[in-house]
Amino acid sequence: MQRLLTSDPQFERKFARLVEDRRETESDVSSVVSDILDKVRQRGDEAVAEYTARFDRHTLGADDDWRIGPEACKAAYDALEPKLRDALELAAERIRAYHVDQLPRDRDFTDDAGVRLGARWRAVDAAGLYVPGGRAAYPSSLLMNAIPAKVAGVERIVVATPTPRGESNPLVLAAAHLVGVDEVWRIGGAQAIGALAYGTKRIKPVDVITGPGNDYVAEAKRQLFGVVGIDMVAGPSEILVIADGTNDPDWIAADLLSQAEHDPSSQSILITDDAKFADQVADRVDVQCSMLATEDCARQSWEDNGVLLIVNDLSEAPALANRLAAEHVELAVDDPEALFAELRHAGSVFLGRYTPEAVGDYVAGPNHVLPTGRRARFASGLSVLDFMKRTSFISMDADALAKIGPAAVALAEMEGLPAHAKSVQLRLK
Ligand code: NAD
Repeated sequence: MQRLLTSDPQFERKFARLVEDRRETESDVSSVVSDILDKVRQRGDEAVAEYTARFDRHTLGADDDWRIGPEACKAAYDALEPKLRDALELAAERIRAYHVDQLPRDRDFTDDAGVRLGARWRAVDAAGLYVPGGRAAYPSSLLMNAIPAKVAGVERIVVATPTPRGESNPLVLAAAHLVGVDEVWRIGGAQAIGALAYGTKRIKPVDVITGPGNDYVAEAKRQLFGVVGIDMVAGPSEILVIADGTNDPDWIAADLLSQAEHDPSSQSILITDDAKFADQVADRVDVQCSMLATEDCARQSWEDNGVLLIVNDLSEAPALANRLAAEHVELAVDDPEALFAELRHAGSVFLGRYTPEAVGDYVAGPNHVLPTGRRARFASGLSVLDFMKRTSFISMDADALAKIGPAAVALAEMEGLPAHAKSVQLRLK
């Protein structure tokens, strides 16, 4: 964990290094991933099976090894304890309600020149949803991916999720049943992303791939953008907590650890104006860490990537937060609105002391699949729009063409494209 003070004369240099460090071992991961993708493109299922045996210790032989059928998903749902089923349903309802509101409206209007213009939104035909499953299982990510896809109207919804040593997570299957997923494949990592994008004998290709994952998954999506659509690069999780010294250090320590426990490459940062409070939080992180079943991962993440950043005044925090463009930002202060107004780059913001980030991971409603690695500068969280595309249209009669056509002819001639000019001119006569 590193400790930075804005009062340090070397602060700007150190902070710039922190902003540049996206915690991605870029060259290693990208060459491993491009090799995996090449193999999957050339050798299809055979390569997928080899990588699955190597990374997940799962043998893909019979159909059941590859795919989990709808009956197994329904059985997992039926077998859920009532408390867990209620929690899953509450989460699904709230996520659905939030995402229904994102459905875009078509446009259709006639302008002053008599030209009818507009745009129609339509869903993609098939979506591949990545549900991580290496270190932990993520039924919540299944809901966060599949519900916006359903709301968008996607016809074929395909889940890929690794099942290490052949063990599938019953709650992931139950969630797949609850939302109505069409296919669940027991594959993960870059090989799963490659199979979804290129298609194999067993797996038909999809049009768009969404969802979070570790560095390998995120890099595979990035490399395949263009072959398929992707939502954004959603890699190892991050949290930035902006807190004053009146918070309970235990609460803030738990918030920092909630993201550190995802992945050794995750990053947790505290910005505070109270140096003593920062030290108390660090002590509580240490104590709480030793009580977690995820201790090894959380401790490594905190030790390698954790940051305590001490400012003279919290008004300095938003400018620093904007440069970090973190996936999650918590504002644990009395008046979060003042800081919120200054925040420009963040995946999702949690306002006030009673809004822990973890509530957003499960049940609040907004999507938890969010851009990481400073990409909130230009990207947004997963939404219904990631499963849709817009087709514009134009409709004119002779009068309308007579009004705007001559300008098109002039521009086409200017560009040296006579066939363009002629196709308009012929209709103007
Ligand atoms: P995962 O399913 O993303 O990755 C597991 C797969 O990684 C394996 O199946 C394997 O194929 C591949 N892999 C592992 N080591 C490899 C290696 N050395 N070479 C090639 N491939 C390798 O599951 P995970 O590892 O538990 O990671 C989940 C990730 O998702 C975490 O980083 C977590 O922070 C992140 N996450 C992000 C968000 C978000 O919105 N940004 C949300 C939830 C989770």
